[in-house]
Amino acid sequence: MSAPLAIEASPDRLDIRWPDGTTALSATALRSACRCGRCRGADALTMADDLSLVDVAPAGTYGLQLIFSDGHDRGIYPWPMLRELSASRP
Ligand SMILES: [Zn+2]
Repeated sequence: MSAPLAIEASPDRLDIRWPDGTTALSATALRSACRCGRCRGADALTMADDLSLVDVAPAGTYGLQLIFSDGHDRGIYPWPMLRELSASRP
């Protein structure tokens, strides 16, 4: 799994440039896909309509840590997961 060539974060979405194309993921899609222990344990995720991305930090060399406007900062998104999320959305 190769890492993206470039990442561009905006409040409402993340643009990822892969070696074979560019994909965009919305902040809400990323937030709802979080697989951290707290989110997996929750029955339903309540999410603000105006949820946005506050910051993006590298998680080692294998992915990204995303920080959201609702204060959630536990989400680690490995490259394959970001790739999978991208593929499942047109
Ligand atoms: Zn989470």
